[in-house]
Amino acid sequence: MKVPFVDLHAQYKRMQAEIDAAIADVLQRTAFIGGGTVKAWEAAFGEWLGRDHVIACGNGTDSLEILLAAFGIGPGDEVIVPAHSWISTAECVNMVGATPIFVDTIDGLYTIDPALIEAKITPATKAIIPVHLCGLPAEMDPIMALAEQHKLVVIEDCAQAHGARYKGKKVGTIGHAASFSFYPGKNLGAYGDAGSMATNDKAIALRARKIANHGQLTKHAHEFPGRNSRLDGLQAAILLAKLPHLDQWTAERQAHGALYRELLEPLGVHPTQVPDHMSHVYHLFMIQVANRDEVQTNLKAAGISTGVHYPTPLPLLQAYSSGGHHASDFPSVSAYTPKILSLPIYPEMSRDMIEYVVEQLKIALHVPV
Ligand SMILES: *Cc1c(COP(=O)(O)O)cnc(C)c1O
Repeated sequence: MKVPFVDLHAQYKRMQAEIDAAIADVLQRTAFIGGGTVKAWEAAFGEWLGRDHVIACGNGTDSLEILLAAFGIGPGDEVIVPAHSWISTAECVNMVGATPIFVDTIDGLYTIDPALIEAKITPATKAIIPVHLCGLPAEMDPIMALAEQHKLVVIEDCAQAHGARYKGKKVGTIGHAASFSFYPGKNLGAYGDAGSMATNDKAIALRARKIANHGQLTKHAHEFPGRNSRLDGLQAAILLAKLPHLDQWTAERQAHGALYRELLEPLGVHPTQVPDHMSHVYHLFMIQVANRDEVQTNLKAAGISTGVHYPTPLPLLQAYSSGGHHASDFPSVSAYTPKILSLPIYPEMSRDMIEYVVEQLKIALHVPV
């Protein structure tokens, strides 16, 4: 049996008629940039999320960066980010000329440790970017409390967590603004790069919209130098066609997650913990195994693709070597990153595939069968 890490083709096949019709419609109307489809996407996503303003943009890295700029964050400012994420979460801070300040993450949850944030707050701190990594919400209540106390902006990085809930609230509706990526492999994926920002703050929404469109709201009325970060009509049409299916896909991911948990129980491989006040949307199904590289190689030989998200804590990447960080400054993430392994998970997976992955994992771990 072959088990790919994700299977975007299976999802396309499942809704080919809808996707093909949506694309054909854009081609007929030659509405390639902007226009009604992009507006319709912003309205539909805002409705689904429960936010007043959605601004579409080029990708989920731009959306973080544009939001930081919209909040006026720039040179001399510091922004608190988790030590464990995809690089975009920290990179966006550098791109606006500010400095990312890394905070260690919690073993087993993989999100920023709220108890360690306050010690990193200085007079230069302007914002916190919690990441709902793997699809599990960060512990938002203490983060929002600290933000209120120190007058900081909270921008949620929801790139891996479309539809996840914290105390019943969808992620992306708790902070001051939220960033979403629709990179093809995300839980809601376009067929190219795509992103969106969401907020209830009208002034921030307006500013973000101008920044993403050369500092203008109407043609040739450039109020300041902005940039070009647009969602194209084809991607908007694809996202619009897919959005009504997202909740169903999430339920399927959650069913697969539950089956994995049940079957993995005797193996002691530490699937991500899910606190009662959170729902996990399983962008990634992460486990921990001591002999990770060997396990990954053996699974590969058995036709199973896995991933490591991510092998190196952000502050220890070469990109941040000038910060002079040491693994001992981030003991939690440094201790668990050599052990983490992401197993295949996507809505169209079959029960047989999950059973096969677990069987092969038992063999790779030398667990008697
Ligand atoms: C994918 C991702 C991003 C960036 O999204 P792109 O659309 O690829 O630019 C940002 N943050 C996290 C946590 C991600 O997983």
